[in-house]
Amino acid sequence: MPVTTTSPSPPGLDDLRRQDPEMADVILGEGERQATSLQLIAAENFTSPAVLAALGSPLANKYAEGYPGTRYHGGCELVDVAERIACERATELFGAEHANVQAHSGSSAVLAAYAALLRPGDAVLAMGLAHGGHLTHGSPANFSGRWFDFVGYGVDAESGLIDYDQVRALARKHRPRAIVCGSISYPRHPDYARFRAIADETGAYLIADAAHPMGLIAGGAAPSPVPYADVVCATTHKVLRGPRGGLILCGAALADRIDRAVFPFTQGGAQMHTVAAKAVAFGEAARPDFAAYAHQVVDNARALAAALADEGFVITTGGTDTHLIAADPAALGIDGPAARARLAAAGIVLDTCPLPYGDERGLRLGTAAVTTQGMATAQMAEIASLCTAALREEPGTREEVRNLARRFPPNSG
Ligand SMILES: *Cc1c(COP(=O)(O)O)cnc(C)c1O
Repeated sequence: MPVTTTSPSPPGLDDLRRQDPEMADVILGEGERQATSLQLIAAENFTSPAVLAALGSPLANKYAEGYPGTRYHGGCELVDVAERIACERATELFGAEHANVQAHSGSSAVLAAYAALLRPGDAVLAMGLAHGGHLTHGSPANFSGRWFDFVGYGVDAESGLIDYDQVRALARKHRPRAIVCGSISYPRHPDYARFRAIADETGAYLIADAAHPMGLIAGGAAPSPVPYADVVCATTHKVLRGPRGGLILCGAALADRIDRAVFPFTQGGAQMHTVAAKAVAFGEAARPDFAAYAHQVVDNARALAAALADEGFVITTGGTDTHLIAADPAALGIDGPAARARLAAAGIVLDTCPLPYGDERGLRLGTAAVTTQGMATAQMAEIASLCTAALREEPGTREEVRNLARRFPPNSG
């Protein structure tokens, strides 16, 4: 039976409507917005009703500092079961020795990985922010840039692909304590074996920040960093289609350090409703229909990238291996931020992203959410031409977008 996705009216909403119509209107309005526009934000997806049910469950009431069997609070017998199930499913799904499912978000997972492996002032080598690194990869506005000495690697100006010779040269020069691979806008697979070899050669830990592709990895549609990285950080809410949250995987030797870096070092009580929802999502992701979904996500991204290229967008790296596309609309006579605004006005919702070596920001698109809605490659061609129509501000485009979204309601399975 296929996993059905978000119901427009979550359970309990009738109670909320009676008690707090103001907030009920916001929640219903957001459901309507999601159902009538196209969600191409690469980091978003639609969770299943089962995941939402776990999030809205009595586990939300429970305090649970510590880990199963060693909690600081009483009454944890059942939430202990929930966390053990979540950890077992995560280790099985990804073939890891240890999982920590308590990290509140992707950023919290990365913070904990750094806390476990690094000391303030240590050198860390990660993808530069202008080339697609995340805030947690050394932004001066983030704890990472404040507490560690980040060196950025980048992509080749011609191919747009990671320049591994540069990664190696920087690692040999700066002797970082950790090398981070993972990005918010790089549409290709990192070469984890190559990163591992560079880390081994230079005595660095390898941290894979797989926040984006973790769902593709679960579905066998992307290579796994688990055999190569000392620590794998991820989110559970991107392609993986679970609740908003973080996940950390590591080998048995680092398990205790990672757990202590999450609690008590960087977090307090675990969010047990989210932990249970993560377990539900891991269970869904282990099923054959999720593998089919993950492969369809990539097929759709390839089709969308090709269709956008036909429309005149320049696609970084010439295409994609993942759910993610980085596109430069400059040839259409518009920059990324202006394009994003016109697309939003037509109900096509996406982000801008840095374009390596470009002066302007580009557009970042992802196919995780539209694929959950049941869209296939035929709809990707339709979306690409709707994008061009939106950029030209052609009348009627908003209505066409609404009709397409309505044909694929997120709860249709
Ligand atoms: C999304 C993302 C994160 C952060 O996840 P949050 O849950 O928003 O904190 C970290 N690293 C990478 C590479 C990401 O894509």
